[in-house]
This record gives sequence, structure tokens and C-alpha cells, in this order.
Amino acid sequence: MLVAKLGNGKQLSLAEVDEQIKAQLKGKKKSFYCPICEERLLLKAGNKRRWHFAHQKNSSCLVEQEAETEYHLNGKILLYQWLKKQYRQVYLEYYIRSIKQRPDILVQTEDGPVAIEFQCSNIPESHLIKRTEMYNQRNIKPLWILGSKRLKRKKNYFQLTAMDWLTVQFNTKPFVVYFNPTNKQFTLLHSLSPFSEGKVFAGNMNMKLHHTSLQQLIHPLIKMERVSDAWFNEKRKWRLSCHYENKKAAHFIRNELQKKRLHLCYIPSVCGVPHNFTYLIKTPTVYWQTWIFLKFLYKKEKYTTFDSREIINSFAHCAKVQKFSVRRFPCISGKYKYFAQAIHAYLQLLCNLNYLRKKSKHTYIIMNEITPTTSNYEAIGKDKSIVKKINQFNNKANN
Ligand SMILES: [Zn+2]
Repeated sequence: MLVAKLGNGKQLSLAEVDEQIKAQLKGKKKSFYCPICEERLLLKAGNKRRWHFAHQKNSSCLVEQEAETEYHLNGKILLYQWLKKQYRQVYLEYYIRSIKQRPDILVQTEDGPVAIEFQCSNIPESHLIKRTEMYNQRNIKPLWILGSKRLKRKKNYFQLTAMDWLTVQFNTKPFVVYFNPTNKQFTLLHSLSPFSEGKVFAGNMNMKLHHTSLQQLIHPLIKMERVSDAWFNEKRKWRLSCHYENKKAAHFIRNELQKKRLHLCYIPSVCGVPHNFTYLIKTPTVYWQTWIFLKFLYKKEKYTTFDSREIINSFAHCAKVQKFSVRRFPCISGKYKYFAQAIHAYLQLLCNLNYLRKKSKHTYIIMNEITPTTSNYEAIGKDKSIVKKINQFNNKANN
């Protein structure tokens, strides 16, 4: 903690003290109290680490204490000072009594209050959801900024923990904000396209703290990402090994395919294509898109119509019985948090590729038959050309 109450009731913030005051604090035997639980606090005034307050061991303070590493303390102070330059009302460790929450920083912006949590350590998912919902209830916008140390970059993809997924926000594209107090830089991981639970393809954008405003962080300008070669390569790898895949969704889809004497390796190329909203569904994209193909499109005659609500209801049922799984997004409001958006976007993509045509709000017409491929060679060639077509279409939409 950086803020404590003094014996005279005034508050002392270690973010504001200079060396002179520090020397005074060290000399006198002052008492410090937690502004929330009123318990006596220890002033940790060492030479190595940044000064901070801590509860005594066995404290019963209600407010959760993040393990206050140097990294966390530094980040909190840097973010606080950064916000002070932009807004008049900025409060460090402000306790919101009505919801018993104490965000790292609370700032009053032109669009209302924002609670900033600089989260470096793991906390249980249920806590993160609960805290986010509390802020939402009070019309305080929660902004979780993750410590950059949490960002796990592999060769050409990223790994996000279940906790990190919960902090995703949306502004034309989904994104997660990371902050590195050492080089004073934000990293936005955006356009999240998970191939599987462990592999997320995404764009990343670095933003220097002092060249960025809070508004730019909340409403970042994210350009359309092209479907990466990495995605295509991953799908090729998947095609060659999916026979052995042992996940629940793989079993389910393999069985469904077998009923129609089809094979997972040879699914059509339009099954397993990324779009802006695939992040909403936790089940790998190849599986739920194959399911849509099998159940609603396979062997349907040209000009057959169907209602997208059927797909959505049927998907909701599969999610309920845990054949599929969807993600939760407590920080996103409106339709961009629901799986239905992923299905709408997929049908739209099939329209762009001339397989479907949208007739009315919920009705689609099949315009071209989608057929399974018959060899790995054919499948991989078609995957490549689908990626190319999608990129051409996105390019056109960008210009
Ligand atoms: Zn306390």
C-alpha cells in the first residue's frame, strides 16, 4: 500500500513524498493506520525497495492485498503520475466503501469514473469477476492493466491465462492491456484469434506511457489485421495431426463426422477460419465451424434457406451440455461479449465468400455448396486460397 492514515486523521501518500519528508518520517516514530480497517500499519522504509506500507501479519483487513512487489508498486505510481497529468480528480488506493473495493487508482474522466487495477499476480478468476461486476454495478468502468511479465509470447503466438482472458476489452476489436513499469510502455494485445486454448494469434502494439492518453488506451485505434500465415501453418499442422487429437470437442465432432462418413482431416477449408469474433468461443474455431457446416450446410441444395436463430439456439444447447464452451467477458458490455456474435460474423464471412446470401435479418440462402476435401493435398491448397480470399476482402473493406 502507498497510502496510510496518520494519527491526526490526515492521509499520507508515499507517491507524493520527497526525500526531505522521507527523512522526517524516518526520524520520528510515527504511527500509520490502514484507511480502511484502521489497523496499525508498518512502514517498510528500506533502502532497496520502494517505500510502502504493509499490514501486520495475520491482519484481518477486508481489502485484498496484492503481493506488493517492487514491480507492482512502481507501476502503480507511474500510472498514478501519468493520470495526474491528464485529470484533476485522480485518487490512489481510493476505498469505495459502498462496494468494499479499493482500486489501485480511481480517476474521474469526461465519460465517468474509471477504476484502474494494475494486476501483476494471479488472483482467482471468481475474484476478478466479482470485483469487475461490483464496479459495473456502480457505473465505474473497470480497467484491468496487466503487468507485462504476464505476457507470454511464444514463437508466433501468445498464451493467455484464464485470468488474463477475463480482462479483455472491446473497441472494434478485442484487446488486453499490459504495462511494463521498467521501460514505461503499454503493450496492447489485440485482434485476438485463438486457434486453440493454448495458442492465440494476435497483433501487438507498443505505446509509450508518455505518448499515450487514458482515452487512447480505452479506445485504441486498431487496424484490421490480415489472417496471418501463422494461422494457415497452424491449420496445416492440425490437419496432419487432428486424427490423434484427444480433446472433448475433437471427440464430439469426429463422432458427428463419422455418422456421415466424413473425416476430420478433410473438412472444408471454410471450417476453421478466423474472424474478429472467434475469441468469444473457447472451443477451437475449427470444431464449432465444422459443426455449423455439418448440421446446417452439408448436402443442402442450392437456394435452401435457414434461420440463424436455429444455429444459435442449437449452439446454446451444446454449450449448456458442455459439448462446447464459451468465454466470459465481464469487462465488455453489449453484444460483443456473447457467442452469438461469433456465429453472426461467421455467417457473414460465408456471405463474403459467396457461399451464402443474407435474405433478411435472420434468414440466409445457400448459394454455393460447401464440400469436404478429399485429400490432404487438396485441403491444404484450399486452405491457402481461402486465407488469400479473406485477406483480399478485408483489404477492400479497409480501403
Ligand atoms: Zn486494512
